[in-house]
Amino acid sequence: MSSTTPTILDFTSAVEYLKTDYQRDGLDVKSLLDSDKRGGMTYNDFLILPGYIGFASHDVTLESKITKRISLRLPLVSSPMDTVTETDMAIFMALLGGVGVIHHNCTADEQAEMVRKVKRYENGFILDPVVMSPANTVGDVRQVKHEHGFAGIPVTEDGNLKSKLVGIVTMRDIQFHRDDTTPLAEVMTTDLITAPEGITLAEANQILRSSKKGKLPIVDKNNNLTALLSRSDLMKNLHFPLASKVDSKQLLCAAAIGTREDDKERLRKLVEAGLDIVIMDSSQGNSMYQISMLKWIKATFPNIDVIAGNVVTREQAANLIAAGADGLRIGMGSGSACITQEVMAVGRPQATAVYSICEFANRFGVPCMADGGVQNVGHIVKAIALGASTVMMGGLLAGTTESPGKYFLSAEGKMVKAYRGMGSIDAMESQKSADNAATGRYFSEGDSVRVAQGVSGSVLDRGSVTKFVPYLQAGLQHSLQDIGVTSIEALQKGVRKGEVRFEIRTVSAQAEGNVHGLHEFNKKLYA
Ligand code: GDP
Ligand code: GDP
Ligand code: GDP
Ligand code: 5GP
Repeated sequence: MSSTTPTILDFTSAVEYLKTDYQRDGLDVKSLLDSDKRGGMTYNDFLILPGYIGFASHDVTLESKITKRISLRLPLVSSPMDTVTETDMAIFMALLGGVGVIHHNCTADEQAEMVRKVKRYENGFILDPVVMSPANTVGDVRQVKHEHGFAGIPVTEDGNLKSKLVGIVTMRDIQFHRDDTTPLAEVMTTDLITAPEGITLAEANQILRSSKKGKLPIVDKNNNLTALLSRSDLMKNLHFPLASKVDSKQLLCAAAIGTREDDKERLRKLVEAGLDIVIMDSSQGNSMYQISMLKWIKATFPNIDVIAGNVVTREQAANLIAAGADGLRIGMGSGSACITQEVMAVGRPQATAVYSICEFANRFGVPCMADGGVQNVGHIVKAIALGASTVMMGGLLAGTTESPGKYFLSAEGKMVKAYRGMGSIDAMESQKSADNAATGRYFSEGDSVRVAQGVSGSVLDRGSVTKFVPYLQAGLQHSLQDIGVTSIEALQKGVRKGEVRFEIRTVSAQAEGNVHGLHEFNKKLYA
């Protein structure tokens, strides 16, 4: 036997051996992103090493903060772009546990109406129900159904809340009624099951369940109507257990604004409509405009959480943290429809930006959102591992049923939907409100030449977010399971302590990590 043969150690000591003088596999996060050595990195430049699986993937929880005060059960956010987030996307992102940020490339009234619809979609006690009087007509109810989507309307003596309840009318009462001029007094149901004011929501829900009716009017001791409960909300609650809701059980709603003087008026309208979170939408958030707007919002609307940005350096972040930001949005030029880095020569590779800012901002308790450049579940996991609390997506969600716009056939015969950067010439030219649009983020109205910072194009059909987002969720749970952590908090703690390890991918390693060597294949992501 050669003298160079290593001594064989006792196999039972393998785990103990690691704890002694053995170098841990992979890199800690700081060594991974040491930009002095290897420059800025993107998500594709590295991988996370697997850990130990001691639990089932469905035991992984994904709760995470979006602002200092608000948490989400699923850390996913849809981008404030006019090809991504309007009412439907905002409703379904919130129902599924995330949140949608309504874009502002429209008038303030249009944006406020979208916020109002999101807030009205699901309720606990409906404190401002649509009410009618016995003299209102069947046609009036049809009109409400057409405008708001519901037809369950309590009828009071004078047609207002806080007036004596005399009946209720629902779609069933008028469905086959041909004469729109018939007064409600003739078609309404008068034999009502009600519940007394002051009852808890749980108690009221119980009465609603056992009454087998669609609505439960809440009345004071004089039988004046004070609120309404709807059975369909119990079903919504059942079907979407992760939904992001505020105390009223209404869905969480976010919207974006600019930093001009008239954005203050816009914000007033959004707040009146029930807004919870506002995002100041700018590609370079470290500006005197944003800092003064931030201070104004915090002083004027202390109950609204403000996310500032975008930022990609600690120096930018520091100013916004000091001015009171409740959250930061990270990314410059990493978006899929974005040409900022190419045209402006300004920006930062996204993984480096996310790590650098999160490491800094988290010291001050400010949650960060990694915005842009997310193409798959793995990118979301990497952003979170680098410290992001939430992840914002544009292109990945633009092809879903719930995004604005219609599908069309591409030249190759594929179903696609339009997707465009908010800094594209296309978005600017479609600008509906000259006063203040999202495109103000990239253009000043005084500019004689408009320099585009985005492109316009299309993305493939992805089906409904009600399927796609749960796929992202399950993917995240499996990924965290592979890493060996049961929550986002545990993942970020593991990274900070150097226990969750990383590996840099060479170009050929990246090729190996993708499908290779197949003549042809079908990449179906979920079933
Ligand atoms: P992969 O995750 O696709 O590589 O396949 P695995 O076999 O590793 O795991 C598939 C799923 O089954 C994961 O959620 C595992 O946690 C789970 N799983 C694997 N082995 C067991 C087991 O022995 N018992 C139970 N209950 N679940 C398991
Ligand atoms: P309806 O039976 O025709 O009233 O309609 P649904 O029960 O299908 O839908 C009612 C939904 O609209 C519930 O989710 C309510 O929370 C919501 N909603 C919001 N505002 C109102 C309102 O003023 N009146 C009613 N009836 N529903 C409202
Ligand atoms: P950015 O271009 O991504 O930095 O987005 P901003 O919304 O911060 O800025 C868009 C343009 O409008 C830039 O030329 C800003 O300097 C300008 N701008 C932003 N807010 C204000 C404001 O309150 N007043 C004025 N006069 N200009 C503003
Ligand atoms: P995606 O998820 O498609 O990779 O990126 C979405 C993000 O790109 C948005 O949330 C926004 O921050 C950014 N973005 C949207 N439009 C433009 C644009 O025209 N130019 C630039 N630079 N960024 C954009």
